[in-house]
Amino acid sequence: MLRVVVLGAAAGGGVPQWNCGCPVCLKARTDPDLRSTQASIAISADGDHWFLINASPDLRQQLIATPQLHPGAGKLRHSPIAGVILTNGEIDAVAGLLSMREGWPFTIYAHANVLSILKANSIFNVLNEKNVRRQGIDVNAAFEPTLPDGSPSGIEILPFAVPGKGAWYLEGKVHPGGDDGAGDTLGLRVRDRATDKYFYFLAACAEVTDDLKSRLAGSPLIFFDGTVWRDDELILAGLGDKTGQGMGHIAMSGEHGAIEALAHLGIGRKIFLHINNSNPALLGASPERKIAERAGWQIPIDGMEITL
Ligand SMILES: [Zn+2]
Repeated sequence: MLRVVVLGAAAGGGVPQWNCGCPVCLKARTDPDLRSTQASIAISADGDHWFLINASPDLRQQLIATPQLHPGAGKLRHSPIAGVILTNGEIDAVAGLLSMREGWPFTIYAHANVLSILKANSIFNVLNEKNVRRQGIDVNAAFEPTLPDGSPSGIEILPFAVPGKGAWYLEGKVHPGGDDGAGDTLGLRVRDRATDKYFYFLAACAEVTDDLKSRLAGSPLIFFDGTVWRDDELILAGLGDKTGQGMGHIAMSGEHGAIEALAHLGIGRKIFLHINNSNPALLGASPERKIAERAGWQIPIDGMEITL
């Protein structure tokens, strides 16, 4: 049985964002139901050992809020977390690693490009490589993350390349892993080896190509990039000068948006993830939310668990 917990559903900054007075952030300061931490999920095939997909800056808060990830009863030092799989090198995907520096052994799985970013930033040396192994993963090469004793986890993960962008803080800089962009944005297929149940995880995606459509068609469950409702949302709201595309994120709406592009593909359950606080679909009564829900999409709440 594959268990999935949504630790956080928000894009960078979370909801509310510390320095934001947009309508969603304003409302979220007084309405706890609207609050959301930065995107990450936890997965497990046995219910005892868990893997995080991305480690958000809100990880500490997420771990406190998630009983499935608390230390086992009666154990002085313990964590059910056996590993972290990184799908990109953005701050909102890697900063949480710094909150896991207290000596529990686990493995970081990431593409060589993302591992090179960790290596180039000496602050990540706080994760002693004797305890915290770093293992490269490759596009189109399925792997099975292992438990701390080396035994198989029962989960098969297939990383694949997704149209996207490199990390913001590397724009105009030399990428420590080279400039070919390979591995900067990964999607994952996560499969329970015992039951063959699977789902897809794409926290960032700039475009739904025909290849991606055929990959996702018929999938029982997808988590998909829901950063912005419309491409020029940040500009229109006076919140920034970047488009969704400029940040490597497809919009939810519009002719080439995620809702339209992923319709009629026989996907069982569609859940948006990595939703920016500027996105009006976060508001339960908004017309945008209604459009998304009518098209079969769900806006998740933190802590939600799904079993496959
Ligand atoms: Zn805001």
